[in-house]
Amino acid sequence: MQYIDTYSQIKEGKRFSGRQYLRNIALSALAWVDQRSGIESYLGMPRVQFLYVHHIFKDEEVAFERLINKLSKNHHFISYSRAVEFILNRKIDKPYLVISSDDGFRNNLRAAEIMNKYGISGCFFINPSIIDLKDEGAIKIFCRQRLNFPPVEFLTWQEVERLQKWGHEIGSHTMNHINLANSTEQEIQYELGASYNVIRQRCGDTIHFAFPYGRFFHFSEAARKIVFEIGFASCASAERGCHINHPSFLSKSELCILRDHIVLDWSIDHILHFMANNSKKVNYNSNLFPYSTQ
Ligand SMILES: [Zn+2]
Repeated sequence: MQYIDTYSQIKEGKRFSGRQYLRNIALSALAWVDQRSGIESYLGMPRVQFLYVHHIFKDEEVAFERLINKLSKNHHFISYSRAVEFILNRKIDKPYLVISSDDGFRNNLRAAEIMNKYGISGCFFINPSIIDLKDEGAIKIFCRQRLNFPPVEFLTWQEVERLQKWGHEIGSHTMNHINLANSTEQEIQYELGASYNVIRQRCGDTIHFAFPYGRFFHFSEAARKIVFEIGFASCASAERGCHINHPSFLSKSELCILRDHIVLDWSIDHILHFMANNSKKVNYNSNLFPYSTQ
């Protein structure tokens, strides 16, 4: 089977719409305003900003490296575990960045190699059921039904372990990439528990969790409780935002990580606009889950 290995193949699949065109014009105008209104002060603000890079296809590698270079000028890259520790212990004294990726595409390896060059440790959230899968038909169905994505190659366990040996962290994204908001408690227990056990067995003790699809409405208070009963070290969404020191110490089960989704095809000014916008809007509630927790 022909697996997708460039971002331009994905762009060819989706016709460039008028809506995207208008979005680009609007973002460029906002980026222009940013430059005149001191975007640097927002980017220099002490905070933890998690970036979520879904894929780094071979035609996106140069843009990834360029982005790292640009962001290194006013940010410090830290590991996922360190970032969680800084938030919980209110130790955010500088602008910190963390890189993570979901779904375990095989091109995560190239992303990791680029990060290795800059001494950056990332976190890769995987679905164990798809790791090592060779059946092309099953991969195609998984990509279409679970990811709404064309067929791509996934990591093998050997490669996952290689990522970990390089100093990156491996997190859980459930066993089968399911929508936890539509799942029974039994399904949630299985998806979280089995993925926790298999990753812990192969990749060490501290396992972070990121829920599939990433919007708050793809998760629930019931699922949040199960995540922390099982023993995960943190729980992440893919809602935009960043984190600042909370007025009081938080327990790990109170912290809801926000991550900014980034597509490397976007211009750097647009990415910086999203990041500065997070800094502008951040408040203490950004650290907490939006559900009524008890
Ligand atoms: Zn995902």
